[in-house]
Amino acid sequence: MKTIIEPFKIKSVEPIRFTTKEERKNILETAGYNPFLINAEDVLIDLLTDSGTSAMSSGQWAGIMRGDESYAGARSFYAFESAVRNITGDKFIIPTHQGRAAEKIIFSTLGGPGKYFVSNTFFDTTRANIEFSGSEGVDLLVEEGKHPEQRAPFKGNMDVAALDSFIRKTGKENIPFVMITITNNSGGGQPVSMQNIREVKEVCKKYGLPLFLDACRFAENAYFIKQREKGFENKSIIEICREMFSYADGSTMSAKKDALVNIGGWLSLNDEELAMKCRNLLIVTEGFPTYGGLAGRDLEAIALGLEEIVDEHYLQYRIRSVEYLGEKILAAGVPIIEPPGGHAIYIDAKRFLPHISADQYPGQSIVCELYVEGGVRAVEIGSVMFGKYDKNGKLIPSVMELVRLAIPRRVYTQSHIDYVAEVVIEAYKNRNYMKGYEITYEAPMLRHFTAKFKPI
Ligand SMILES: *Cc1c(COP(=O)(O)O)cnc(C)c1O
Repeated sequence: MKTIIEPFKIKSVEPIRFTTKEERKNILETAGYNPFLINAEDVLIDLLTDSGTSAMSSGQWAGIMRGDESYAGARSFYAFESAVRNITGDKFIIPTHQGRAAEKIIFSTLGGPGKYFVSNTFFDTTRANIEFSGSEGVDLLVEEGKHPEQRAPFKGNMDVAALDSFIRKTGKENIPFVMITITNNSGGGQPVSMQNIREVKEVCKKYGLPLFLDACRFAENAYFIKQREKGFENKSIIEICREMFSYADGSTMSAKKDALVNIGGWLSLNDEELAMKCRNLLIVTEGFPTYGGLAGRDLEAIALGLEEIVDEHYLQYRIRSVEYLGEKILAAGVPIIEPPGGHAIYIDAKRFLPHISADQYPGQSIVCELYVEGGVRAVEIGSVMFGKYDKNGKLIPSVMELVRLAIPRRVYTQSHIDYVAEVVIEAYKNRNYMKGYEITYEAPMLRHFTAKFKPI
């Protein structure tokens, strides 16, 4: 077997700016020890997110020039609609400016006080939109998904028995739909098996509940199914994608992930009456139904990105380059969620910093160290992001304390990734000197974006 190489060559480059360790210490302090508040120019390798950070292909840039900017019925809309339908098979394709706009529309249409939505794990914006509507989001992840060090092929699966008993207990009339997030971003980018999607569908059918996909990383999920699930070895990625979507009644999507573009999303539906309601809300909040908050050129780029994302050479390189980083730091003893996920490596901050308790945010401590050590920007996915307070103002910590190193698509080369591994390993060697953090400012919702901290 030969080295798996980047399946592209580079035609346009963007310089990155080097800073000294002293400069980075000052920058971090000014940013209130929150990497979200650091200027991107002051970051050397940016692994904050894989969202909207993809490099587009020369074909997509050519599509940008061809984009039809007509207000209504633009040719680019029909290219977009047909590309989305080619994968989802859904009847009604509603463009939105990003994933959360699709979430806002569907949850404000079907949510409201007293309602429950159920998922393997809801992503943070999805949960926020559910709660903003007055409903509650319930995560029913399989047990192995909650143990970072336990290897299993499909740690993103939903607990099917728990789903059945939750529906019985709660009453199907209080549950507008069930949602599966593929891959499970908040749970480590872990995939969901086709078998699990089928079983969840069976339970939904039994109670007459619709099933939705949060489809942000559908292609990465399909590649894992091809690699790991019996019976799919010889299927094409597009066939696997179509089967996954065939069990769903609709999907929300952030095209900033597996559509290889910098902005965009969709809400796809099969129910005509629901689609009408959602389109009416779209017109108020996003725009006319044939552009939905996007320019024609964006729709064109999404249509092309959806063709490129299901290419098996791309997916092999993609999944392997993430796994490569995981293997390197794991070999040096750094605790991560195993096996590596599709779009990111998740460092297990609880095991990395056992001397820092959840209320002193061990994940935040690692994120700060990675920036100072090497100018690498990562994100905490733990009690800063998901922590809540009880009636006495005491922190209810997140189940896991993680640090995510998200890999932008087609952006960094193998030597960039080698450098990142060196920085992580250096931070791990410094772990006994690392300190906890306290929050000095926080917003009432999605606090991780704007919170400020102080070292303890
Ligand atoms: C990114 C993401 C979203 C939200 O999409 P945005 O485009 O950032 O609004 C929803 N769900 C999952 C799983 C995501 O990764």
